[in-house]
This record gives sequence, structure tokens and C-alpha cells, in this order.
Amino acid sequence: MKRNLLLTPGPTQVPPNLCAALGKPIIHHRTPQFQDNIKQVVEGLRQVYQTKNDIYILTSSGSGAMEASVVNLLSPKDTAIAVDGGKFGERWVELCQAYKANTIVHKVQWGKAPTADEIRKLLTAHPDTKAVFITLAETSTGVTPDVKAIGEVVKNSKAVLVVDAVSGLAVQEIKTDEWHCDVVVCASHKGLMLPPGLAFVSASPKAIELMNHSTTPKYYFDLKEYKKAIEKVDTPFTPAIGILIALVESLNMIKQDGLQNMFARYALLAQATRAGCRAIGLTLFPDESCATNVLTAVNVPAGIDGEKLTKTMRDTYGITFAGGQDKLKGKVIRMAHMGALDEYDILTGLACLEKVLHQMGHKFELGAALSAAQKVLNQK
Ligand SMILES: *Cc1c(COP(=O)(O)O)cnc(C)c1O
Repeated sequence: MKRNLLLTPGPTQVPPNLCAALGKPIIHHRTPQFQDNIKQVVEGLRQVYQTKNDIYILTSSGSGAMEASVVNLLSPKDTAIAVDGGKFGERWVELCQAYKANTIVHKVQWGKAPTADEIRKLLTAHPDTKAVFITLAETSTGVTPDVKAIGEVVKNSKAVLVVDAVSGLAVQEIKTDEWHCDVVVCASHKGLMLPPGLAFVSASPKAIELMNHSTTPKYYFDLKEYKKAIEKVDTPFTPAIGILIALVESLNMIKQDGLQNMFARYALLAQATRAGCRAIGLTLFPDESCATNVLTAVNVPAGIDGEKLTKTMRDTYGITFAGGQDKLKGKVIRMAHMGALDEYDILTGLACLEKVLHQMGHKFELGAALSAAQKVLNQK
């Protein structure tokens, strides 16, 4: 039987105990039993988000939580700043435009991060801005900006800071309250190690104020309804019950592991992966200074077909990496360091990468990536 190792930045591996939790018979959601699960999920998520803010539970993919943020914070013609440095930043832009916001697009070269200074200048030029949309870990390029510094800038304006932490939450640090992140969105199928189905939106008092005044038409994603419901330990519609029940266990695993330990582990896996890639002549796609530990995006060597590389790894050997998106199609490969992955998963991924690159004629010493990665993993 072929393995199916997901080294992709979402969906991620679901560990066996969570698969078992997902297999439990369904219970009804309007019951005290289910309410107990909701309570634990909100409490657990607050710890991972590092927030005291409201957290709303949506049944959708991550993009649903992004859409919910846009339709609840903005009204048509409101000014919004959307940072576009990759596929997911571009999604903020498209969402703002779809709902007729006066969208100020801050284009950032792929592989580079937006700076707090750039945001400050934009806010000065557009003092009526209602919201600034950024991405914690831009999954298409492997970049993370200085969210703390951006938060310091946005806090002093009328605008709220909205952070897409779909791939970053529980993988790299985000201090929602301390960094003044008014809205943070996330989903179940990345760092939280579950299948897709649930998404989350946190909202600060400043964000709730905007929500109360938004005139954008909405129904399923009207967060005022989610707020009313969660105050009664409920959800407005039928939630993804099975995933929510399993999430209690996932959040317990995270609590036991310790957030800081997890961040350190993913950082080490990222460092080992990068050393391994470097040893066989692959270079990092983003600037080293703003590379996230959530995933590693490396350039495919000249003369190698990146799409064929990832396809062969997946279809012949059962190891799934992500390829490049959009203009990076065939040009980069992306390996995740998130969720239920350990050092042996990374080593397996690198071994397969070596094998297929070797088959495709890339010149390097077999074992070099593994050796370099092992040295990083065993440096202590
Ligand atoms: C995965 C991801 C999303 C959400 O994608 P969905 O397919 O809608 O779940 C949003 N932002 C980032 C940065 C992501 O990595």
C-alpha cells in the first residue's frame, strides 16, 4: 500500500487520535453535550490566538472567514487597504473589490514582505481607511511580515487590522491582543490538524463597532448573528459538528504540547528543510529575512520541470509537496512545517525530493540533503 504523506500547507496530516475522534457517532448540536464542546473550543482557541476577544465559529473553508471579515467590517465605498504580495493577499483585494470597497491595493513583490512604514504612509494618505488587510503567513510565497510593527501603526488610526492567519495560526506566533490584531481569521485544516470544514473569526471591540455599522448585504456570514449565538454557547446554523468535537481534542494536544514548543519545533523543521535544500543546490524563494517557518518555498533548479517533479513525487511515491501557484507554477515547490509533522516526515520528504531530482537529471551528491538536514536536527 502506498503511503500518502501530506507535506502540503493545507490540508495537513490528520493524526490517528483525531481520525478516531472524527469517527464518533454524531450528536445533536442544540444540546448541553455539544455546548460543552463549544465552550472548550472557544477557550482553547483563545489560548492559541492569545486573545480575550470574541471568537466566532463558522462552517466554511478559510476563505469563508475572509469573506465574513470583509462583509462585516466594510460598507460599500468604504476605503480599505489590502496588501497583495501573493495569492492570498490577492484574495483580500478581490474580496474587497467584490463588495465595492474603495480598495487601495498595496502591491508587494512576491517573496518580499510589506513593512509597517509602508502601511503608515498609506494610512496617512488615506486617513478614512476602515480596515487594513494583511496575511500572517503568505502561503504562496513563504513570507511573513512584521505583524507586531504593523499593529503598532494601525492601532493609532481609525482602521482595524485584519490578519489572515489561516496557515499561520498554531504554527508561528501571533499575539492577537498584544499586537493589536482586531480581526484574525483561521480554519480547521492547517495548523489545527483537522479536515476542512470549520473557520474562525476573532473580533476586538474596535472591530465589533464597525460590524454594527456595516451596510453591506449579508446573510449566512452576518457576524452579528454569530455573536448573539456564541453568547448563548450556540451557533446560528448547523455547524460541522464532527469537526468541532474533534477540535476539542486537537486543542488539548496543542495545550499539552505547549505553543512555544510547537513554534520551536516547526522552526527547527524549517531550518533543517532549508539546509537540506541548500545542500542539493536549491535556493529559497522568499527573502531569508522575511521567510516564515510555516512552509519552505524553494526555486526549482533550471532545466527541471517543477510540475513533473511534484507530480512524480505524489503519484509514484505518495509524497505530496505543493507546487507553485499562478506565476510561480512549475517554478517553486513548497513544503509545509505545520500540524502533525515530525522530523522523520521532513526527512522522508527530502529523501523523495532527492530521488526524483536525481531521476530528472539534477546533479548533486545523493544523500546530501538528508545529511545536511540531519545535522540541523541533531545539533543539540
Ligand atoms: C489555505 C489558506 C487560506 C484559505 O483557503 P481555503 O481554501 O478557503 O481554506 C487563506 N489564506 C491562507 C494564507 C491560506 O494558506
